[in-house]
Amino acid sequence: MGVSARFIVVGGGVVAASVAYHLARRGASVIIVEGGQRGAATSAGAGIICPWTAPLDDGWYRLCAEGAAYYPGLLAMLAEDGQTDSGYARVGALCVASPAQALRPLAALLESRRTSTPVMGEVTALAPGEPARMFPPLAAGLAGVWIGGGARVDGRAIRDCLLRAAVARAAVRARNASPG
Ligand SMILES: Cc1cc2nc3c(=O)[nH]c(=O)nc-3n(C[C@H](O)[C@H](O)[C@H](O)COP(=O)(O)OP(=O)(O)OC[C@H]3O[C@@H](n4cnc5c(N)ncnc54)[C@H](O)[C@@H]3O)c2cc1C
Repeated sequence: MGVSARFIVVGGGVVAASVAYHLARRGASVIIVEGGQRGAATSAGAGIICPWTAPLDDGWYRLCAEGAAYYPGLLAMLAEDGQTDSGYARVGALCVASPAQALRPLAALLESRRTSTPVMGEVTALAPGEPARMFPPLAAGLAGVWIGGGARVDGRAIRDCLLRAAVARAAVRARNASPG
């Protein structure tokens, strides 16, 4: 990208913030136009990063899985830019069901994807009762599957990190006049 490239990025959610940051990091001139409407998905999102369980077609799955795998590199870039407060943590993911056989299709799906996406980490079948021992609010009889690579992120926090880092690299934030 030439240093003279100029971009207007529209939106104030995590996607616009990420686009703006990556462009600014490459030396582009960036103006971010935020609307600020209520109900933005970034503020509502649960922040679960566990695409390996989703019944997606190949292309969509690859996009989501590569997105999950991208986080460590992104966090390293943000840290270089002084932003470390994203709320990201690799905490593992727990899928539960009863009876235990109901988890067989999920276990088979995870197994079929494990080689191509090692970032999913270790996958462990949990006997009935084990999930409740790990997380007591769960019903005692539930069986589970533990996915070690599961993570969570605070959407608002990482969006704000991305916006601050973009601004630190000379991006300009502006607000449009659309109703809130
Ligand atoms: C309830 C819920 C739970 C979710 N849970 C998860 C989860 O666990 N894991 C996961 O990976 N994903 C989850 N998601 C999805 C995830 O939150 C979204 O994919 C992501 O936040 C989309 O970001 P975005 O920037 O595209 O959209 P948004 O965050 O909606 O941002 C859009 C932005 O565009 C602005 N805008 C709109 N129109 C204009 C305009 N004309 N001019 C300027 N600005 C404008 C808005 O003001 C807003 O700031 C969840 C979503 C929801 C709703």
